[in-house]
Amino acid sequence: MTTISMLINGERRQAADGASFERRNPLDGEVATRAPAASPADAIAAVEAAHAAFAAWSQTGPGERRALLLKAAHALEARTGAFVQAMARETGASAMWAGFNVHLAAGILTEAAALTTQISGEVIPSDVPGSLAMGVRQAAGVVVGIAPWNAPVILATRAIATPLACGNTVVLKGSELCPETHALIVDAMNEAGLPPGVVNFVTNAPADAGAVVEAMVAHPAVRRVNFTGSTRVGRIIAQTCARYLKPVVLELGGKAPLVVLDDADVDAAVNAAAFGAFANSGQICMSTERIVVDATVADEFVAKFAAKARSLPVGDPREGPVVLGSVVDASTVTRCNALIDDALAKGAKLVCGGRAENTLMPATVLDHVTPEMLIYREESFGPVKAVVRVDGVEQAVATANDNEFGLSSAVFGRDVARAWNVARRIEAGICHVNGPTVHDEAQMPFGGVKASGYGRFGGKAGVEAFTELRWITVQTTPRHYPF
Ligand code: NAD
Repeated sequence: MTTISMLINGERRQAADGASFERRNPLDGEVATRAPAASPADAIAAVEAAHAAFAAWSQTGPGERRALLLKAAHALEARTGAFVQAMARETGASAMWAGFNVHLAAGILTEAAALTTQISGEVIPSDVPGSLAMGVRQAAGVVVGIAPWNAPVILATRAIATPLACGNTVVLKGSELCPETHALIVDAMNEAGLPPGVVNFVTNAPADAGAVVEAMVAHPAVRRVNFTGSTRVGRIIAQTCARYLKPVVLELGGKAPLVVLDDADVDAAVNAAAFGAFANSGQICMSTERIVVDATVADEFVAKFAAKARSLPVGDPREGPVVLGSVVDASTVTRCNALIDDALAKGAKLVCGGRAENTLMPATVLDHVTPEMLIYREESFGPVKAVVRVDGVEQAVATANDNEFGLSSAVFGRDVARAWNVARRIEAGICHVNGPTVHDEAQMPFGGVKASGYGRFGGKAGVEAFTELRWITVQTTPRHYPF
């Protein structure tokens, strides 16, 4: 078991009242981590530390901010082994997924380092003689980042990297399900030498999440919030932010469709679908959740997809390499088993996998899924996937769009112009033609539409999200007034 601390003003701290909570391994129930259970007062102390550090950090030159963020990227990568172990203990994730997380998170910090010289503005022609008018991007203030457990290194790093590059100071609220994994990110930032108070870290017991988050959102120094997590909690956070008029970036759930058109390269579509559906046991916001296949190629696609799914190794990631490790909790098993039972009762065909007895869940494919079945609409957030057979492009587009979510999507077709035109009509923030739904790069505008949230992380879009755009003028000649 590991005991971790919060980080407030450069100091490692427990909760002021000494409270703590435990995270247990999903497979054997052993205590993986003991973490401080912050009270709202602890969270406010973190916000105030960030507020105190803001004046100096926002005035620190871009070269120095860049150098520190690059050091943080290296410090993060140097901890790869520790991340692999922490993720296996806390969330049951495979070493492959942990390694990918650290690699992309280091890329996010490197990209943020490059952004420090891109926080620019423009000179805007003014109708007032002698007025030099500018639109200037400036750091906003304290940014609160709230990150989930499923891609823990990527998403918690993303919650703070671009905000820091823009000159904001941050408070990261770690996930209750992976406090050590999130603490390791903060350790790397601290080792890189970011000044005290620039990065702060709080952890809370599950029951206190609402109070801790609201205390931070309400604080006047907090000027931006970002949240990655479920649509259910995203709605709560959107309402809290609305009450205090705090802008928020929301990256919520998904139900990504992968459309296989009649002219698709079926083997390429099978490989993309298997990767997108079963990486991290389907616990990715971009996971392929619905495979919408033209009926003319469906038999071939399903046979090949099922063969690939059956071949994927499942096991305890602490004992050796696997593709599917443990899912995060028994609740995932219960939810996915219920989705399977419901689909089979309503006429779906189980092609491979099936109900799980514990958190080692096999890759499962259900064919002939129809709109009456829960799995047609609801996020499984596990390795249980639906194949929906359709007739032609129009039905494929309508099926892809027949969902409340709209984060990622994909279209496979050899006629790329036709596939592109399908991609244009899919209601999702992200669409890949002839590529998997699971694809993330630090510099891309990442985000969703509909119930998948609003706002974008990544590259220039991230700079817009985490700066204020101000109008500043300089009157360079005597100004004429009417009286
Ligand atoms: P979750 O929403 O249950 O929890 C996320 C965070 O919300 C935690 O830190 C928790 O402390 C906090 N929280 C819980 N209740 C709260 C409350 N009442 N007020 C304020 N904060 C509260 O999400 P999860 O289960 O950890 O993550 C899985 C979900 O995240 C899935 O739906 C997935 O699709 C989504 N997700 C989205 C993206 C994306 O970029 N769009 C990425 C990864 C995961």
